[in-house]
Amino acid sequence: MTHFDIAIVGAGHGGAQTAIQLRQLGFAGSIGLIGAEPELPYERPPLSKDYLTGGKAFERMLIRPAAFWRERSVTLVPGTRIVAVDPAARRLTTDAGGAFSYGTLVWAAGGTPRQLRCAGGELAGVHVVRCKADVDAILAELPAVQRVAVIGGGYVGLETAAAMRTLGKEVVLVEALDRVLARVAGEPVSRFYEEEHRAHGVDLRLGATVAALEGTERVETVRLQDGERISADLAIVGIGIEAAVEPLLAAGAEGANGVEVDAFCRISLPHVYAVGDCAAHENMWAGGIRLRLESVQNATDMASTAARAITGGTEPYAAMPWFWSNQYDLRLQTVGLSLGHDATLVRGDPAARAFSVLYLLEGRVIALDCINATRDYVQGRKLIESRVTADPAKLADPAVPLKSLAA
Ligand SMILES: Cc1cc2nc3c(=O)[nH]c(=O)nc-3n(C[C@H](O)[C@H](O)[C@H](O)COP(=O)(O)OP(=O)(O)OC[C@H]3O[C@@H](n4cnc5c(N)ncnc54)[C@H](O)[C@@H]3O)c2cc1C
Repeated sequence: MTHFDIAIVGAGHGGAQTAIQLRQLGFAGSIGLIGAEPELPYERPPLSKDYLTGGKAFERMLIRPAAFWRERSVTLVPGTRIVAVDPAARRLTTDAGGAFSYGTLVWAAGGTPRQLRCAGGELAGVHVVRCKADVDAILAELPAVQRVAVIGGGYVGLETAAAMRTLGKEVVLVEALDRVLARVAGEPVSRFYEEEHRAHGVDLRLGATVAALEGTERVETVRLQDGERISADLAIVGIGIEAAVEPLLAAGAEGANGVEVDAFCRISLPHVYAVGDCAAHENMWAGGIRLRLESVQNATDMASTAARAITGGTEPYAAMPWFWSNQYDLRLQTVGLSLGHDATLVRGDPAARAFSVLYLLEGRVIALDCINATRDYVQGRKLIESRVTADPAKLADPAVPLKSLAA
């Protein structure tokens, strides 16, 4: 049985960064990076953006080239899924019946796309966008596709819709709630993106629930709860993920929606850490509420925290959250967490397609969504850090630099 001093399960953003950080910190023991996907570790965000439109080659998405891993003696174990963890024996079991032993385990398995709970979800032509294989399957079918139904109006759904419009496909987007991005952004941001997508020709259906996907050999129709039938040659489902933590929970780890980690990314099982999308942590930028974040920033910074802790560091996870989304020619940059905000301010003019939405709690700015407004994003970060109470009129005035209010 192969032994790794540190076994990392999941070779995505969090797993790859953990290995990179461990070597940077001088860790000299053996590292195994075990991942279910066959590819070298790669960046996921382009999957719903320029990889989907054909604007970015896969080679340009690699987190590091193959030589990097060889030179740093990180053993890649691709195409291998871990199905069981034995924390007492410090043993991992693979889906092929193999096993690894470990000194320390870092779990970085991300999440699995949530499935539609209605008839027809299994039909051919119904897709998700989580990994390269998902997008390659879509791309293979696209030449024969004219009408695409996107189900879910979160970031992945909206980016996918924008990519499909860029490729000239007819797009219907179905969202169950009464606005897009409802879970993550304030109403002004939602309304702005709804108008943008409509202006780009997306047929947006809000407050609409999918009752069934119908078709004989492959999907042909999306039937809504109100009985309407929408024709579609291909459906893309983007309704969120479930944290991939079953083997840890089965081994007795604390958690449910994600595995619970402490400020050093340690879970309740001995010698085990978790990082990235699957790690439910108490976030200081959300008033200490336990949550999971699904972002490259969070996976990267948690990887650093875990690598430091494993090599004897004592710095807890305290990174300020940030995120981005590209749709059409719009670049959204978000910083901080808007959870629990009690007021919003719009800074700038949405009609000019460059503005920011500020989220406040008791007069303090706790987060910003900046659309084509990078200066606000950069300076807003300082404002959040400073925790000052600023004059709302000044905050909303684009002529007043945010950094002048952070002092
Ligand atoms: C389409 C798309 C667009 C995105 N766009 C953005 C963006 O614009 N900005 C942003 O900040 N974030 C974006 N994200 C989110 C970001 O990619 C994730 O937050 C990030 O990848 C999380 O890293 P992770 O290591 O936790 O998980 P992942 O990167 O998902 O890696 C987990 C890996 O673990 C593997 N795995 C799972 N279970 C097992 C197992 N049992 N054994 C072995 N391997 C396993 C998986 O196959 C996967 O390769 C996007 C995500 C998607 C899907």
